[in-house]
Amino acid sequence: MIGVDEARERILSHFRPLEAVDIPLLEALGLVAAADVVASAAVPPFRNSAMDGYALRAADAARAPVTLRVVDNVAAGTVSPLAVAAGEAMRIMTGAPLPAGADAVVRFEETNEVDDPAPARQRRVVEVRRAPRTGDNVREAGEDIAAGDVPIQAGTRLGPAAIGLLASLNLSSARVHRRPVVGILATGDEVAEVGAELGPGQIRNSNSYMLAALVRRYDGDPVLLGVARDSAADLRDALRHAGNADLLVTSGGVSVGDFDLVKDFMQSEGRVDVWQVRMKPGKPLAFGVIGSLPVLGLPGNPVAALVSFEQFGRPALLKMLGRTDLAMPTVRATLSEKLENRGGRRHFVRGVLTRDDAGFRVHPTGERGSAVLTSAARSNCLIVVPETADVVESGSVIDVQVPDPETLFTTLA
Ligand code: AMP
Ligand code: MG
Repeated sequence: MIGVDEARERILSHFRPLEAVDIPLLEALGLVAAADVVASAAVPPFRNSAMDGYALRAADAARAPVTLRVVDNVAAGTVSPLAVAAGEAMRIMTGAPLPAGADAVVRFEETNEVDDPAPARQRRVVEVRRAPRTGDNVREAGEDIAAGDVPIQAGTRLGPAAIGLLASLNLSSARVHRRPVVGILATGDEVAEVGAELGPGQIRNSNSYMLAALVRRYDGDPVLLGVARDSAADLRDALRHAGNADLLVTSGGVSVGDFDLVKDFMQSEGRVDVWQVRMKPGKPLAFGVIGSLPVLGLPGNPVAALVSFEQFGRPALLKMLGRTDLAMPTVRATLSEKLENRGGRRHFVRGVLTRDDAGFRVHPTGERGSAVLTSAARSNCLIVVPETADVVESGSVIDVQVPDPETLFTTLA
């Protein structure tokens, strides 16, 4: 049996970032740029005012307070046909192009604007109360991005600000590593599809939906392939439907039971690279390759499937997406009760992680059975008990994986 870290390394060695595609801007959120983005034009494209105020020549107001003649009123989106000459000022709004002749903008708050009752359009003069410096409140053309700059480098994960930046460069699509397509197959004679009649001894297929949700969470495209019976013929048939998926994730049939055929099937049709990992839950995991299709065979127990997908499926997906931050978000937290760990396996314990002034605290949810999905649904983290520890005392500081960090911060409210 191999350890979790070695299993992850072996599995990840089978994956590469997927090819680059151009996709509409909004669909690129969370994906990784596959090429440098070179700015074809400057942002902002012209010199403009950063404030509502008066454009003027800084030298004219050097001995403020001074009174200047108001010669125009420039809104954003219009260009004044006039220039600002000596002794003159122009009313100007945020984002409007700076008129010729002007070299600074004085904010309304530094003029007599506020206490002058005259309507803006009828103003002929303005008193400037404070001397500006050249360039005050002026945004230069190209101040944000100069033409030829590379504001986004290959390998950058695109967040909302990056999406906005691409739009500012007049790009309606983004070149990113495409999303992995992940086939999801449940196995087991006892497993009935959601909506089908439940025969004697049958249970619902919860795994496929949980796994598809995980694939979505990690920016993949899940394809549900239904439920295969515990027979090689059925598995072979399902495999044909996996088509050109980038990864096939199965659940069930990888243990040592009489009808656990998935691992043997992998072996006979391709090759098995990992079988059985020193972890709890999730020990009977199998990873192999059939033809060119990587197959991640997860255990059937729902919690084991969940925990092992987080450890192995998640980083495989992220690697295909071009991500390099493959490690699960992890914090150090104070454990609220003693945990025992016999058997030399890494134990992932469902827990509730909270934060207060003293830092992170983590509380095991109590239910340890690997079939108990309710406690997983109530938890927001996995406490990582090292394989080397027989016992971790209450009050110890321990690693805690947080697959969805948002759940942690909402507990602060
Ligand atoms: P197996 O790994 O095939 O021995 O299955 C282990 C346990 O997980 C058994 O109790 C199965 O009934 C259960 N199980 C297998 N597949 C699923 C599934 N798709 N959804 C829910 N439970 C499952
Ligand atoms: Mg089974």
